[in-house]
Amino acid sequence: MSKKPAQKRFRLIFPAHLTDQPILYQLVRNFELILNIRQARVLPDQSGQVSVELQGSEDEIGRAVDFFLEQGIEVAEQDEELGWDPDACVDCGACLPLCAPGALYRLDASGRVTLDRSRCTLCGRCIEVCAYGAVWMES
Ligand code: SF4
Ligand code: SF4
Repeated sequence: MSKKPAQKRFRLIFPAHLTDQPILYQLVRNFELILNIRQARVLPDQSGQVSVELQGSEDEIGRAVDFFLEQGIEVAEQDEELGWDPDACVDCGACLPLCAPGALYRLDASGRVTLDRSRCTLCGRCIEVCAYGAVWMES
């Protein structure tokens, strides 16, 4: 029976001289991994941050981390998840303008606020403004 693939999230910090290098392209070409870029903030001539999710075997993910480190990229695993209690949410909308990737959004029909975890980059901004304890960070 084949093992279930692992799924891990990482924050990659690229030094300025690497932000224009095709490092994620090399990852896709040379590793048997599925790459999901969750958020990227890279400006020319400045360091950049990219949040990625890697899916594949534990060994292959480990090799990919070694590859990043060899290139001079800082790697931090993100093992937290955003806690979400829709019953505590009063749909006030205070979090919506702060959620850049649109992970928290208003459903058109009902106007209720909901969460799409696949878009969440764990920035934590919604937690700072939510006075109702509807969102929190859990590990
Ligand atoms: S700030 Fe909190 S209560 Fe208000 S919409 Fe966002 S999650 Fe819901
Ligand atoms: S932590 Fe909150 S504000 Fe940040 S991306 Fe996730 S849902 Fe949006």
